[in-house]
Amino acid sequence: MGNLIDGEIIAEKIKAEVNRDITSLNADGINLKLVAVQVGENPASAVYVKQQKKNCEKAGITYELKTIPAEIETVALLSKIEKLNNDRSVTGIILQLPLPEGIDVKRIQSSIHPFKDVEGVNPANLGWIVYGKPSLAPCTALAVKEIIDSTGVDLYGKEVVMVGHSDIVGKPVALLLVDKFATVSICHIGTSKAGMLEEHVRRADILIVAVGKANLIPGGWIKQGAVVIDVGINRVGDKIVGDVEFETAKEKASLITPVPGGVGPVTTAILLRNVVKAAQWLKKQ
Ligand code: NDP
Repeated sequence: MGNLIDGEIIAEKIKAEVNRDITSLNADGINLKLVAVQVGENPASAVYVKQQKKNCEKAGITYELKTIPAEIETVALLSKIEKLNNDRSVTGIILQLPLPEGIDVKRIQSSIHPFKDVEGVNPANLGWIVYGKPSLAPCTALAVKEIIDSTGVDLYGKEVVMVGHSDIVGKPVALLLVDKFATVSICHIGTSKAGMLEEHVRRADILIVAVGKANLIPGGWIKQGAVVIDVGINRVGDKIVGDVEFETAKEKASLITPVPGGVGPVTTAILLRNVVKAAQWLKKQ
């Protein structure tokens, strides 16, 4: 594999732990059930739903898709979430995005009970990251942390550059890594517009990119020996590529995640782990 980080191997380890924990929960009479709420039709979301269902069922988690008509209003959707919050047979809730225009996404995400919020999008769960005690944190952010941990790289004092500042990837990743005493810079569209992106990227001992623009980062910008984690997923013709120019970057990086096969499988496994964590907490209530 050379300097490639194999996300499938990391994911398999997580799934083995998940299987053990599910067996133990089942032995205590607890069955896991994940409900995915989808509002309206969305082809991209349909692909995720299919994959989630397959992964959950393989792990022994019941998966139910609740499809709600696109015309629903925020208040009515809130009451549907409330019903799931109060249903003891439901141990995890996922809200499929995007939601139709006009629905207050943040309000809906905030209404998912923090103990059932397996995607870590409720402000309470995001807040636990700020406290340095991540619990049900966003799956992709946890996946990035898991991948870095798997490399054995010591983050203390290292220059980490996070490109992208979304609520579910860039911001939580930065907080998770700053707690390991890395020096973390967060870059975004403002950095690019100011013409400063290259300068930041060239400094990175650990570079994480989560933007969604194919080949945004030329391989020539990568510092010799850097660890590169490419979160981006972009379709170019009939190929899926990341945000980093892979062929040239891999010549300079000490370790690099491929796309596909890097962050994606780890994120999927972390979702299962979050479903287990949620059920373990609910058991204690
Ligand atoms: P968002 O669109 O929410 O965030 C993208 C971020 O990139 C924003 O902070 C945006 O800044 C910034 N940005 C946009 N253009 C530039 C630029 N030219 N230079 C620097 N920064 C820029 O996306 P997500 O965080 O949800 O996802 C990012 C990528 O990761 C996507 O390709 C997505 O498909 C992928 N992804 C992969 C997952 C996996 O499991 N592998 C899981 C989740 C996401 P601003 O908002 O200011 O424009």
